[in-house]
Amino acid sequence: MGTTLHVIGSLMIDRVLRVPALPAAGETVMARSAAVHPGGKGANQAVAAARCGARVRMLGRTGSEGAFIVRELAAAGVDTACVMTSDAMSGFAAVMVADDGMNSIVIAPEANSRIGDVDIDAFLAGASPGDLLLMQNECSGLGHAVTAARARGMRIWLNAAPMGDAVRSIDLGALSCLLVNEHELAALTGIGEAEAALHQLAHAWPKLDLVVTLGAEGWIARVDGAIARGHAIPVNAIDTVGCGDAFVGALAALRSEGMPWIDALARANAAGALAATVAGAIPSMPMREAIETLAQPH
Ligand code: ADP
Repeated sequence: MGTTLHVIGSLMIDRVLRVPALPAAGETVMARSAAVHPGGKGANQAVAAARCGARVRMLGRTGSEGAFIVRELAAAGVDTACVMTSDAMSGFAAVMVADDGMNSIVIAPEANSRIGDVDIDAFLAGASPGDLLLMQNECSGLGHAVTAARARGMRIWLNAAPMGDAVRSIDLGALSCLLVNEHELAALTGIGEAEAALHQLAHAWPKLDLVVTLGAEGWIARVDGAIARGHAIPVNAIDTVGCGDAFVGALAALRSEGMPWIDALARANAAGALAATVAGAIPSMPMREAIETLAQPH
């Protein structure tokens, strides 16, 4: 068993409406179906890491309607002692998915934006030097968390999703790993071609490990000072929601365990592929055994 993985991140109630076509401005359409799922990038990645075998604790905030997400986290083995439930409205995502697969998503962080510096300091008091801190960009406190975790000698991983001003104001030199998808990479660098953008970031931040997911194309990374890449594993993809979170959560778990980069990336690639075969986000986060089986050369 490696070190503990610490996650500071979001809990979201995903309200998913299946519609024949996305409504135009001013239009009202009838949904084919409606569903409510536990989600949020922080919660998804914490579950992914726990199912991959890591010892995981999480800091987050949700409202009373979000209590079912906390139960999901606990059921997956995540330590939720620092996940606070309050009177604030729970963060939620309004998701519309059309028959042609196109989607449209609005995220309201609500309780997630009430994580304060005091909460972060109390949470990080439970961490040891060398432990890995994993964050995304759906909750408040990013800047303070980076400063405080660095002072404690932690390894800091940022999944810069969604891309935004909070990410741009961070000193990337304080991170040990930056993880993005191809769209976030282009938004961050202004360069559309992934490898060229990776080279630009690597030039600016020579010590930073960089991991870029490319959806059905696989991944490309700059780790241990060299470029590495892998193809996606062909699967019967039915729902790619949560693929990135499965990849990132598994990778953080395996690196936390001390696994070499290339082996960990191959397994994260399998975790992302497995997530595409199951609907929803948290329900699709795979177990370690399935990851190991799919990651074997075939
Ligand atoms: P995000 O959800 O953040 O946009 P991606 O779409 O880049 O993330 O997917 C993350 C990872 O999941 C990919 O790098 C790949 O390993 C895996 N993946 C995504 N889509 C597929 C697919 N259709 N088939 C196989 N693997 C996939």
